[in-house]
Amino acid sequence: MTTHHDTIIIGAGHNGLVAAAYLAKQGKKVLVLERRAIVGGSVVTESFGDNFSVDSLHTGGTLRPDIIKDLKLASHGLQPFGSAQGKPDSAPQPFITLLADGSPLTLDAESIKRISEKDAARFPEFARFMDKAASILDTAYATIMPRLPMNFGIREGYGLLELGLELKLAGRKDMLNFIRALPMTAQELVEEYFESEIIKAAICAVAIHGSTLGPMGAGTGYTLIHNWLNRGGLAHKNIGKAGEITTALANAVKAFGGEIRTEAEVERIQVDRYTCNGVILKGGEEILADKVISAADPKHTLLKLVGAQDLPPEFVWHTQSIKMRGSVAKVHLQTNGEHGIPAGTVVLAPSIKYLEKAYDATKYGEISEKPYLEVTTSGNTVSIHFQFAPYALRNSDWKVESGKVAELAIKTLEEYFSALHASRITHHIITPQDFESIYGLTEGDPNHGQLMLDQFLFMRPIPGWSNHKTPIDNLYLCGSGVHGGGGVSGAAGRNAVKALK
Ligand SMILES: Cc1cc2nc3c(=O)[nH]c(=O)nc-3n(C[C@H](O)[C@H](O)[C@H](O)COP(=O)(O)OP(=O)(O)OC[C@H]3O[C@@H](n4cnc5c(N)ncnc54)[C@H](O)[C@@H]3O)c2cc1C
Repeated sequence: MTTHHDTIIIGAGHNGLVAAAYLAKQGKKVLVLERRAIVGGSVVTESFGDNFSVDSLHTGGTLRPDIIKDLKLASHGLQPFGSAQGKPDSAPQPFITLLADGSPLTLDAESIKRISEKDAARFPEFARFMDKAASILDTAYATIMPRLPMNFGIREGYGLLELGLELKLAGRKDMLNFIRALPMTAQELVEEYFESEIIKAAICAVAIHGSTLGPMGAGTGYTLIHNWLNRGGLAHKNIGKAGEITTALANAVKAFGGEIRTEAEVERIQVDRYTCNGVILKGGEEILADKVISAADPKHTLLKLVGAQDLPPEFVWHTQSIKMRGSVAKVHLQTNGEHGIPAGTVVLAPSIKYLEKAYDATKYGEISEKPYLEVTTSGNTVSIHFQFAPYALRNSDWKVESGKVAELAIKTLEEYFSALHASRITHHIITPQDFESIYGLTEGDPNHGQLMLDQFLFMRPIPGWSNHKTPIDNLYLCGSGVHGGGGVSGAAGRNAVKALK
C-alpha cells in the first residue's frame, strides 16, 4: 500500500525530531522514519542490564532555550538548563582534571589557585572571552549560510546581516580575537592565558573531544569554541539524562499531530529526473511525500539512499570527499557505586603532549595505548569516552580489538581510582564500528562529518550546498553534517525547516 505525507523526515535523532516538531506545529502532515527500535540517535539513554542505564553515546546535553520554548518542551518534561520548575538550578557542574598524584582539581578560579595564582587570576577573563566567542558562533549556527559562490536570496542575506551585527556588537577586540581564534591551535589559544600544563591540557581536551585532531592541530581553536558553546562551558550538563531530550521532542512531535515510526529503515530515496517524491523502506513499502528531509549523515543520505546515478558527477565527488574519520569508543561500567570517581566531567589529560601523542596513534590506524579519557558517572554507572580509537584499524579489526579498548580504559582509570577495580560488576563496549552499524553514523563519525575549517560555515556539508538543499528538488538535509551541527543544539533541524521553499 502506498501512503502520502507532506513531509518525511529520515532519522529520529534530535535534529530530525526538532525539524518534525516545527513542521507538525505548522500543521503539516509529518512522518518520521527511524531505523532503530528507539528514537534518539546519538542522544539516547539506554539500558544494558538491570540498574545499568547510561547515555550510550553523547553525554547529557541541552537544546537551545528558544527551541525548548518554541516547541513547548517544558510541558513534555524538558526545562531549559539552569532552571528547575522555574527556579535557578544550584547543582554545581564541575569540570575536573586529575593531577599526577590522582587527586582531582576542579577548573574554577578558586580551585586553580592551588596550582597557580596567575592562572586563577586569568581564568575569569578566559571564560568571559569563551562565552562571547560561543555566543557569536551560536548566531552563526542559527543563520542559514548562503550558497557561495552562487547567488543568494534576501532571506539568506538578512541572516548574514544579523551575524554581521552580532560581530559588530561584540566589540572590536572580541570580534578580532574570535576570528583569530578559529584557525589557531587549541594549544596556542590556551597558552595566551595560562602557564600550568595541567590546566592548559584539560582545556585542550575539550577542544579535541569528538574530533580526530590533536591539540596542536590548526582549527582546534574553533572546535574548542564549538564544544564550549554546546556544553555551555567546559563541563557537560544533565549527565545521565540525554534520553530526556529526545523523549520530550518525540512527545512534542506527536502532540503537534506528527507520526513517528521506529524499525522503519529507509532503503532508498525515490528520485525521478532530479525530483524526489518519497522513500522506499527496507521490506519494500513505498511512502510518498511532497518533501523528504534527511537527518541521517550526508554521505549515507546522498551516496547510499539516493545513489551516484541520480546526482551530478561533481556533487558526487564532493560528497565522497567529506571527511568523516570517527575515532571515539565508549566503555560503560556497571559498578556497585563504590567506584570513588567524583561527580561531574572528569578528564584524564596530563599534558598537551600526552593528548597529541594519543591522537598520533590514529595516523597509523592504531588504538592509543595512552588514551585521552573523559569520565562521567550517573548513579552506579561509570561512562568512559575513549580517544583515540580509529574506525579503520590498519592491522586488525574491531571484532578482535574491542576488548583492548575496555582493558586500556579500565587499566588507565584504575591507576587514578584504586577502588574502581573492586566495584566493577560488568561492562559494555561501543566501538566506532558499532557507531556505524548500530547508531547509523557513517565511518563512526560522531558529528556526521569532522568539524574542520574546510567543512565549516558555507562549506558544510560541501561547498556551494550549505543551505540544506541538494541537487534533487524536494530533498533536504537537516542532521549534524550540515551547518549548525554537530552538538545537541537542534540548530540544524530548525534551520532546515526555515530553508524549505
Ligand atoms: C560519543 C559521542 C560524543 C559526542 N560529543 C560531542 C561533543 O562533545 N560536542 C559536539 O558538538 N558534539 C558531540 N557529539 C555529536 C552529537 O551528539 C551529534 O552531532 C548529534 O547528536 C547528532 O544528532 P542528529 O540528530 O543530527 O543525528 P543522529 O543523532 O545521528 O540521528 C540520526 C538518526 O538517523 C537514523 N538513521 C540513519 N539512517 C537511517 C535510515 N536509512 N533510515 C531511517 N533512519 C536512519 C539513525 O538511526 C539515527 O537515529 C558526540 C557524539 C558522539 C557519538
